[in-house]
Amino acid sequence: MSDIKKDVPRNQKIGVYLNERQKVKGLYLRWSASMIDFYFRRKVLQQAVPLVASFKLTYRCNLKCKACPFYRRAGEPGSHMGWDKAIATLYLLKGMGCRVVIFEGGEPMLWQDRRHDIHDMVMHAKRMFTCVAVTTNGTFPLDVNADVIWVSLDGTRQTHNRLRSNSFDKAWSNLKHTRHQKVLVHYTMNRMNWQEIGDLAGELSNLSSVRGMSVQLFYPYGQGEEDLMLSPEERRQAIEKVIDLKHMGYPIINSEKRLRAMIENNWVCHDGLLVNVDPDGTVVTGCYVKNRGKVDCKNCGFTPVAEASGALDMEPGSIIAGWRAFVSR
Ligand code: SF4
Repeated sequence: MSDIKKDVPRNQKIGVYLNERQKVKGLYLRWSASMIDFYFRRKVLQQAVPLVASFKLTYRCNLKCKACPFYRRAGEPGSHMGWDKAIATLYLLKGMGCRVVIFEGGEPMLWQDRRHDIHDMVMHAKRMFTCVAVTTNGTFPLDVNADVIWVSLDGTRQTHNRLRSNSFDKAWSNLKHTRHQKVLVHYTMNRMNWQEIGDLAGELSNLSSVRGMSVQLFYPYGQGEEDLMLSPEERRQAIEKVIDLKHMGYPIINSEKRLRAMIENNWVCHDGLLVNVDPDGTVVTGCYVKNRGKVDCKNCGFTPVAEASGALDMEPGSIIAGWRAFVSR
């Protein structure tokens, strides 16, 4: 286990190891019980229970990424949520039946209100939800006690730097030095970077701290971000490339079936599985784009929604993808 230091006595190491095992067992049991209850409410009781909340705490960010429409709104009123509103919103999500909360932004690691910061927010949320994750640009130490930390990397060094404000070295160093037990990389494929995903996957295999990679496709919000959308042919080739990487044994979390379905976008979307929270406190059930841009399903790139929809339809690959993303250690 990664947290066991080399210089502690053997019996202490065993104690730490057993403690870790207990925690992992507890996590598996908690997740399994939560999912049984979730499926029972959705399938038997026919309740419209959401699964995942995408919780934007702030639009503030230390970067200006080409593909991002959100940092551009950092100066607007309601662009940064306060602690009290955030806690009230967590209770609202809990009441709706939500199981997973993913804090994002802007840059969620920057989030602060009075004496509270992201660490306090995550600790509070962990007492309420089955799983709590943070999606970050990776430029801050990856030390928040979330169940999962996702770091966005969008290419090898040069391309990532062009897309994401010269942040590659910082993100790489933080990935290298983190002791967090569940760090994943998130790669958003666009027309500038889709050909490099194999190269980055190869480089990442040298980092033992990274447990896997999830992939999604650039979506055009039309809110000031650069137009980086893949052409239909690039989209097909990009997805085939990801599937090839999976076959070669790279730890790509997305399921092959849902990836293939995203070539033509002919999958059934259950967008009610998702709840979106914006920094002004707006809570909307449905597509990630609702309130954030124009919903255009034929250009959808939101693989997490595709996998969640697959899991609801009992697709084994999507259920495994969910387990690998949120639970497995
Ligand atoms: S854009 Fe994608 S996630 Fe949104 S409703 Fe359409 S298919 Fe679902």
